[in-house]
Amino acid sequence: MSAVHAARAGQALQSWRIGLSAPSRATSRSFGTWTHMAYEPMNYMTVTDDACSDPGVPADLAGPNCPFAIQGGVPSEIIGVCQVREYRGSAEIADTTLLVRASYQDDPGISAALKQAIWTHEVGHCLGMQHASQAGNLMYPYLSLATTEPSPGELQAANAAYFPVAQAPDTAIGAEYYLQESGASVRQFQIPSFHTPPVTGSNPASTRALAEAHQELLSRPLNGEVTIINQMIRRDGREQTVVRIEGGPFEQSPLL
Ligand SMILES: [Zn+2]
Repeated sequence: MSAVHAARAGQALQSWRIGLSAPSRATSRSFGTWTHMAYEPMNYMTVTDDACSDPGVPADLAGPNCPFAIQGGVPSEIIGVCQVREYRGSAEIADTTLLVRASYQDDPGISAALKQAIWTHEVGHCLGMQHASQAGNLMYPYLSLATTEPSPGELQAANAAYFPVAQAPDTAIGAEYYLQESGASVRQFQIPSFHTPPVTGSNPASTRALAEAHQELLSRPLNGEVTIINQMIRRDGREQTVVRIEGGPFEQSPLL
């Protein structure tokens, strides 16, 4: 993990601005700590090598399940994964993990704007947003360099979902922009915060130790039935959604 990784990840997150009435609050929470884990879903964003061996990778995306590894002799086209774990029934997001492929993130031939467009879109998935049907939206599934910020409609939907915190009724605009389960918008319990691994630069050993502590938190068991949604992002910007009810088989969507 290098300082470059963390800085780039932070840049994308800080740019999201989910349109809350108190933007400073959203900003400060973006880098908050997990002092109230029970009510503050853990969101973790990290850069990992092509073997998914860095700390912070969930167990079901590590080792032989690493989506970045060469499979069947063919190099994987996947450059990132957004994993959302959602409680079935309550439609609340338990936690999310955004994995960024280091060889992509470090590639100087790919513009910062393109990287930002991809990661801000994925942050939208971590908020509970589904794909938008119209161009001009950040969540439009066909990557466009012109779309690196949420649209007015997406901001309005984020406001409806997250402000006032965890009290907003489900609205028509929520149904348009958010994943739905049993008539409710899939969302986090409160305004989401993201954690990126701290970087000390001169002390990589302590950085790694801290990241490994996070790994343990990421592996904590969840009570209740959970749906795991993996958005696999490819180099060409297309995504594939892989959904699994915990303990059940994977269901794979067509490529978008
Ligand atoms: Zn997407």
